[in-house]
Amino acid sequence: MGKTSIEWCHYTFNPWIGCTHVSPGCEHCYAEGLASRVGGTWVTKGWRPSGQAIERGKLAVWGQRTPRLFAPGEYLQQPHAWNRAAESAGERRRVFVASMADPLELHADSAVARLQHEYRAQLWQLLKTTPALDWLLLTKRPENAKQLLPVGELPNLWLGVTAEDQRRVDERIPILLQLPAVKRFVSYEPALSAIELRPYLSGPSSSLEWIIAGAESGPRARSADLDWFRSVRDQCTSASVAFFLKQLIVNNKKRSTPALDGERWTQVPQSPLPVRAE
Ligand code: SF4
Repeated sequence: MGKTSIEWCHYTFNPWIGCTHVSPGCEHCYAEGLASRVGGTWVTKGWRPSGQAIERGKLAVWGQRTPRLFAPGEYLQQPHAWNRAAESAGERRRVFVASMADPLELHADSAVARLQHEYRAQLWQLLKTTPALDWLLLTKRPENAKQLLPVGELPNLWLGVTAEDQRRVDERIPILLQLPAVKRFVSYEPALSAIELRPYLSGPSSSLEWIIAGAESGPRARSADLDWFRSVRDQCTSASVAFFLKQLIVNNKKRSTPALDGERWTQVPQSPLPVRAE
């Protein structure tokens, strides 16, 4: 965790690891599988479980009643180095929060929920002290945002929701559109059905600026129809909204940023901020 192969960002940042399924997009949660396979080693590297997190030699931090694994102090300092690197390179860089959790989860156990609050407070502080980074917070729980986001707009906070099917499009995007953020985006990954985004892409109340799309990967991946991605691409281009096609499965193989009808789609909206604060 840190520098990442995820194509639409430069770094990933996880205040904690662990989550609970909330919708069909979670069914084959990549993070859950990764944590179970290699998560035990994170404990040996200083990540702190909020309770008994190792079961039969494996990290068990998925589910409503399981602990979460919180980041060590040195990990929380890393973004300062990323900020310096961005300033030296003369470019803004994007940080994805969180690839191994949902940053707006409210744990059922109040002691764990309190820790999540503390780590979120540290996260907001990091945003304030790393002005060359754009922080992309992606959630499947936007209904918790009013309660959990900091008061006042953070100029480098981008907010996104996952919308894997039409039901989640219509549930989550209207909430997203009401939230304060400098940029709003949608992750249509894993794509589980065709979706109609047009009501949210244009019109007076619309402020969506970016759609990221991708087919599910992994051994039990649910298949996605190419026409679903064509439709979302066309909806985005007609509304002048940036479209990023992250991955498709072609001949049973994952293809990153593949061509769709002969063209690759890797658009990213521009941050309105300069590299260095004035
Ligand atoms: S919300 Fe994200 S991290 Fe949490 S279970 Fe679902 S897919 Fe996994």
